[in-house]
Amino acid sequence: TAETRDAVRAATLRPRADELYDAYLFDLDGTIYLGDQLLPGAADLLAELRRRSLPVRFVSNNPTRSPEAYVTKLRGLGLEAELEEVTNTVVAMVRWLEREHPDAVVFPIAERPLVDALLAAGFEVSDDASRVDVVIASYDRTLTYAKLQVAFDALWMHQRAILVTTNPDPYCPLPGGRGEPDAAAVVAAIEASTGVTLTKNVGKPDAAMVHAALAGLDVSLSRCVMVGDRLPTDIRMATDVGMASAMVLTGDSTRAEAEALPAELQPDLLLERVDHLLPGAVTR
Ligand code: PLP
Ligand code: CA
Repeated sequence: TAETRDAVRAATLRPRADELYDAYLFDLDGTIYLGDQLLPGAADLLAELRRRSLPVRFVSNNPTRSPEAYVTKLRGLGLEAELEEVTNTVVAMVRWLEREHPDAVVFPIAERPLVDALLAAGFEVSDDASRVDVVIASYDRTLTYAKLQVAFDALWMHQRAILVTTNPDPYCPLPGGRGEPDAAAVVAAIEASTGVTLTKNVGKPDAAMVHAALAGLDVSLSRCVMVGDRLPTDIRMATDVGMASAMVLTGDSTRAEAEALPAELQPDLLLERVDHLLPGAVTR
C-alpha cells in the first residue's frame, strides 16, 4: 500500500551520501550560512568540492541582493565564489523576461537591486498603469498603498498586464525566532484585490532556476544534487526536474515535515550538517 511504501521510504531517508555527484547546487540561507554566520561544515565541504574540481552553484530565492553582492558576501565569509556561480531571483527574473517578454514595460514592486537589474537589462520601468505589461510582485520593504494602486490599475482597470513574482516564499525566517513577510504576501494582496492570479514564479521551485544555474555546464540532471533547507522550494524543485535532493536540518523545514510528505516528494538525503553530503570515505 501507499502507506507501507511511505513508511519504508521514511526509514530510508539517508543521513549521508554514498556517492559524489557531477554538480552541486546549494541554497544559501539556512544551508551555507544563517544570517551572517557560516554553518558548521560548510567551508570544509565547499573546499573539498573545489579541490576535486566539482562544479558548485548557489541558488537563492532572495531578491534583495545583486549577484555581485552575493559574491562579496560569500568571499567575506572566507568562501570561494565567482559571479557565474550565483543565481538568485534577480538573475532569474531578468533572464525570464528577456526570454518571454523582451519588450515588456514593467512595474516592479521590489527593492533596488531588482529594479537596477531590470534597468541595466534595458527594460522600461514605469508606474503608468496604462502602459504596464508585467507587474512584478516581490519582497519590498518600501511597499506602499500607492504601489498596490498602480498594480491594481494595470491588472484590473486596464486589464492588460500579467502578474509575476520573484519567489513564492510566504515568509523569510530570521535568527531568534523572528521572521518577515516575503513576496507571497504582496502577491496575495494583489490577487485578492484584482481577482487576477499569478502567471509565473521564476524562483525555486521553478525549473528555470535550475536551468539558469546550470547554464554552460554539460551535466545530466540525474547526476546533480540540490541541497537546501526548504521542502516546498529547494526539495520540490529537485524532485520536479529529476535531480537528487538533500535537505539540511539547519534551516526552515523539519525532519517531521519531511517524513510527513508522500514518498515521491521526500528528499533523498536528510543531513544533520551540510558536510554529510560527502560520502564517508571522502571526509577528512
Ligand atoms: N526572500 C527573502 C526576502 C530572503 O531574505 C531570503 C533569505 O535570506 C529568502 C527569500 C530565501 O532565500 P534562500 O533561497 O537563499 O533561502
Ligand atoms: Ca534557504
